[in-house]
Amino acid sequence: MSMSQLSQVQQPEDLHDQIVILVGSAIRLLNGEAGVFVVSNEAFDPLSSAEYTAYRLSDAGSNFLLALARARVQPDRAQPLVVDEISHDMVTQLGLLDMHVEEQPAGTLQRCAMLVYDHAGELGLLHYVRQAGAHSCFEQTSSEGGALPLFITHLAAGIRTALKTLVLLKEQSRLADIFQQSAEGILTVDIHLRIVDFNPAMERLTGWSESEVLGKYYYEVLRPQECQANAHGERDPLFAQAFTTHGNVQREIVLTARDGQRFDVFVTASSIRSSRGEPIGGILTVRDLSREREQEEQRSTFISVISHELQTPIAIIKGYASTLARPDAVLEQETLRSRLLAIEEEADSLNKLVSNLLYASRIQAGGLQMDIAPLDLSSLVQKVALRLRVKSPGVTVKLELPARLPTVMADRDRIEEVLQNLLDNAIKYSPKRRIVTVSSHSTSDEVIVSVSDIGMGIALRDQQQIFDRFHRVDNSSTRSTQGAGLGLYICRAIIEAHWGGMGGHIWVESVLHQGSTFSFSLPREEKAHVPMVVF
Ligand code: ADP
Repeated sequence: MSMSQLSQVQQPEDLHDQIVILVGSAIRLLNGEAGVFVVSNEAFDPLSSAEYTAYRLSDAGSNFLLALARARVQPDRAQPLVVDEISHDMVTQLGLLDMHVEEQPAGTLQRCAMLVYDHAGELGLLHYVRQAGAHSCFEQTSSEGGALPLFITHLAAGIRTALKTLVLLKEQSRLADIFQQSAEGILTVDIHLRIVDFNPAMERLTGWSESEVLGKYYYEVLRPQECQANAHGERDPLFAQAFTTHGNVQREIVLTARDGQRFDVFVTASSIRSSRGEPIGGILTVRDLSREREQEEQRSTFISVISHELQTPIAIIKGYASTLARPDAVLEQETLRSRLLAIEEEADSLNKLVSNLLYASRIQAGGLQMDIAPLDLSSLVQKVALRLRVKSPGVTVKLELPARLPTVMADRDRIEEVLQNLLDNAIKYSPKRRIVTVSSHSTSDEVIVSVSDIGMGIALRDQQQIFDRFHRVDNSSTRSTQGAGLGLYICRAIIEAHWGGMGGHIWVESVLHQGSTFSFSLPREEKAHVPMVVF
């Protein structure tokens, strides 16, 4: 059973209910009405969180009973049960739960504190209330002090087992959390190298889901480059070494994602051993190096990208302008016009880059002004689509908008920029089939707009990063297109500003080589919070 399945089988809460039943039965057998068991043994309460189990008492009632007990004589092994009177009006303060009025104890009440211990040590104290004189059969006096010590030993055995299991369950759920939340990929294998656990980071890294890979040979799933030669059941060098040595095996290798992309990782392989020290399985932790390297490269290539993006249009403008300015230049009207158009286009792209850079620095400084008002998204989408059809006749723009789209609260100009950016990208990264679809639908809280293309698509591993500043997917097609990796970063900042950090987002669904759908959500007019002016 894998780690994620295991954590779903029994929850610490289920066992906690069983402990309540155990404590409740003990209080009943002792003729008590209600009470609370407090763990005093640190082994069972490692965080010293004053773990307690209440029976028919509210939290306030339990605290009241415990405060009362603190001021009185404490039980010890010589006198494991201490009983004293409390006044009847304390019933209200105890807040006895789920008891009908006729069930409420009448007359004087007694408060009892019983030390629960066995030969292995003390476990805790059982505090309970009972009607005055409601002795239990275990307290019948005899020369050995009645059957109370025996009762306590049995109770201690029951509680000890339950607490041990509770500690184990908590530990298991803590480990499962670490496993699930870890940013590093973790997979475990059995001795035959078949996958037993595959954490979410591993899923993101490789594109495989846990259910698809459980039970498969790890090297067939991840296809590590160095193990290609012996991918037929033989132990691969990584685990072979981890199984023979007691230490970790660490190295850089190349893995293959589900979509065939190769990526550099740093792996640590170690063995899981039986109590006799024999290897029975292995653990592989995987750190994505390409991501780290990309980030480093990003920083160093930023300047070169920006200067390249600035230089290209400047060079074109300068080239055309100097030809046009030559005194001996004799140009036909047609040629003159096309050169001037090219100059205008390049000036536009320069303008866009500079304003994107300004945008990005404003976002970073947290000073982007928003002017939020009711907005009809349908008409905005139609306007942007029309402009695109006029500007790029080779592109097919399809609109799939419902007859009535609810009004949203948004900054018209900024949302226009987001739409424009997504449409520009959809065309830019669809070199062959230039068909773009803009669709929209609404939910009870928001309106969602999607821009889909059937272009080059984005690998799962890159999908989280493309919204980061200056991030561009590193492949030959991207390299051949212009861009500084700022568009999506700006889009995300604009959309998030509309929600003031409360829900609402922009996201991508994409399959490599098949196409991408970028979607964003905006708050419906009636659901919007106070308009955000500045973020
Ligand atoms: P730019 O397009 O200037 O590089 P963006 O922030 O707009 O910057 O996009 C970041 C990266 O995301 C792009 O470089 C590209 O690799 C990828 N990308 C964005 N949109 C698409 C799309 N529709 N199809 C495929 N890849 C895309």
